[in-house]
Amino acid sequence: MTPRDALDRLRDRLGPSGLLTAPEDMEPFLMEWRGRKHGNGLAVARPASTEEVAFTVATCAEAGIPIVPQGGNTGLVGGSIPDAGTELVLSLSRMNRIRRMDPLDFTVTVEAGCVLQQVQEAAASVDRLFPLSLGAEGSCQIGGNLASNAGGILTIRYGNARDLVLGLEVVLPDGRVWEGLNALRKNNTGYDLKDLFIGSEGTLGVITAATLKLFPRPRRREVALLGVPSPDAAIELLSILRAATSDALTAFELMPRNGIDFALRHVTGTIDPLQGRHPWYVLLEVASGTDDETLRETLETALGEAVEAGLVEDAVLAASDEQSKRLWFIREAIVEAQKHEGGSIKHDISIPVSRVAEFIARGTELVEALVPGIRPVPFGHVGDGNIHFNLTQPEGADTAAYLARWDEINRAVHDLVLELGGSISAEHGIGTFKTAELARVKSPLELELMRRLKAAIDPAGLMNPGKLLMP
Ligand code: FAD
Ligand code: ZN
Repeated sequence: MTPRDALDRLRDRLGPSGLLTAPEDMEPFLMEWRGRKHGNGLAVARPASTEEVAFTVATCAEAGIPIVPQGGNTGLVGGSIPDAGTELVLSLSRMNRIRRMDPLDFTVTVEAGCVLQQVQEAAASVDRLFPLSLGAEGSCQIGGNLASNAGGILTIRYGNARDLVLGLEVVLPDGRVWEGLNALRKNNTGYDLKDLFIGSEGTLGVITAATLKLFPRPRRREVALLGVPSPDAAIELLSILRAATSDALTAFELMPRNGIDFALRHVTGTIDPLQGRHPWYVLLEVASGTDDETLRETLETALGEAVEAGLVEDAVLAASDEQSKRLWFIREAIVEAQKHEGGSIKHDISIPVSRVAEFIARGTELVEALVPGIRPVPFGHVGDGNIHFNLTQPEGADTAAYLARWDEINRAVHDLVLELGGSISAEHGIGTFKTAELARVKSPLELELMRRLKAAIDPAGLMNPGKLLMP
């Protein structure tokens, strides 16, 4: 079957709105979120059911058409964008039904195209919590979250996407459907197949549905923003607060002062959260299943002691939901604000929590030696050892010349990360942007095992080729 025949067959089955081939219709599916990559594709298929996904994949297999699965297209490593121009983009966005809500089991079964926020709201409507939460939650999809094993802001308490999955339904590269949806907490029956697909970035199959874990909905949340003298102090405080609150800590984010300055300068609605300037800031959240004042009192006492010990310079505890939102807004504004300060070279790394401060100090020194005047903005989910080590260009520097040093700087930073026992991708994945780095840092044995898995499940190499593993 020729690709042309295959497209005709798909058009017949999926209908005119299920197959897009006009360039203007395809455009939104071909542009990476940060604009770092623009792809070309054969067509965009938008199947509306598992059967239609299976039909699409089987047809492509027969015609030898490579497939790029796509969720909300908010991934930051180029994984959801086609490269060669010969691929079919398979968008899951029409598969967006909540199939089954089970409050007694504390589970929900959803289709892959459900937007994350939709799943959070469905859980809340039956007094449950689905705890995956990230900046893109209004547009990223569950299928994309699982395929990239997303992290986010509540990982410290609830784990990352992988930890929230009980079962999966997957369309395999030959079009057969693996029905692995189950709601079991205990299931020791051999290799855990679902874990192969979670984090596989669309290279092994198309996730069409998932059974997810739910949790009791917290009755009380306290949000605090602190000025702290150093990352060292922040990490010491993290361990004190985990103990003092009996692990009620649900988020612990570190922000540098220059990030706050960027946000104040560029994002309307941001306010300087504390009186005076502090070199570093921590935004934290604690949550409890019971609705009493004890949590706030415990937090206040612990923070009071931290002030005495010199770990905290100043603190504000949100007095209302509205104020909590305003404090979180500052954290999110830092992401947005960096765009307006020129080129930014990114790293999404993780380090054992105990060595985060050392990483920030040594990483900063390293990049300042490479590019005098560089402006590091290390921020992120340090409660999990995850730092977005983003490096803004020197003021007034030539942006293109600065960005041309991306790979060189990545390599230097990643070498330090490896020396400290860390990972070159904490939560965004590999996509196409990091395949060369993955090949450089993984051991030959790990790469061999990954390639053999890929060849076993996708022998024709049609699932998201060129992503994750170098061709
Ligand atoms: P896409 O971008 O569409 O795809 C991501 C990868 O998964 C691609 O390789 C794609 O081929 C594959 N894929 C998608 N759907 C499927 C499927 N159904 N079956 C098989 N493969 C599939 N990430 C974090 O981890 N933590 C954060 O805190 C975070 N914050 C972010 C904040 C902003 C503002 C933005 C823009 C992004 C952020 N991200 C974060 C990155 C991104 O949102 C996540 O990686 C998200 O999980 C991607 O979901 P998506 O539906 O957009 O997937
Ligand atoms: Zn993040």
